[in-house]
Amino acid sequence: MENHEQQLRRLICEIGKNLFNKDFVAANDGNISARLSATEVLASPTGVSKGYLEPHMLVKVNLQGDILEAAEGYRPSTEVKMHLKIYNELPEMNGVVHAHPPYSTAFAIKGEALDKMLMPESVIAMGDIPLAKYGTPSTNEIPDSLEPFLGKKTAVLLESHGALTWGKDVMSAYMNMERLEFTAKLTYLARMLDGERELPQHRIDELVALRSFYGM
Ligand SMILES: [Zn+2]
Repeated sequence: MENHEQQLRRLICEIGKNLFNKDFVAANDGNISARLSATEVLASPTGVSKGYLEPHMLVKVNLQGDILEAAEGYRPSTEVKMHLKIYNELPEMNGVVHAHPPYSTAFAIKGEALDKMLMPESVIAMGDIPLAKYGTPSTNEIPDSLEPFLGKKTAVLLESHGALTWGKDVMSAYMNMERLEFTAKLTYLARMLDGERELPQHRIDELVALRSFYGM
């Protein structure tokens, strides 16, 4: 029987494969993490393709980013800082995914938030997806840029960079990344068909009311 840590390590690797197979990351880009305990986080290492992650490669850090455990040759990404921002500020959030999905990243580069209410599931699950201000990777600029959205959102575009999602567990963080990219792709496709059309306000209100029904 696998213990909790082994299960979590395996799940992170599966999510890595999905990100890779869906073209949400290129080369060694992107990173995935999950809260393991009150003081420990498991994170994908730097320099490894998310399509080829193996459980033993994951590194264990504390909430300050100090390495607690890492196999030889593996160390955390400098982008782990934005993950730790979520874990430190939002105790109920236990998973974070960062990727560069092409449609989402195109909007992030254009500098356009995904704030149109286009279809029921995304209105219920996500609402608008804001754009977090540009920051240089590895500095505190990206974690700081998340500040306005903490406790309000679970998905943001990172200006001129990519996307970041989080959730109650690492699987929901991953699902939010899929939803975000789907919304970006739909927005793009609808625009190619002469322009996206928002749901009428009273329909949006009905969907927002359903959120509590779905426990969101
Ligand atoms: Zn990145």
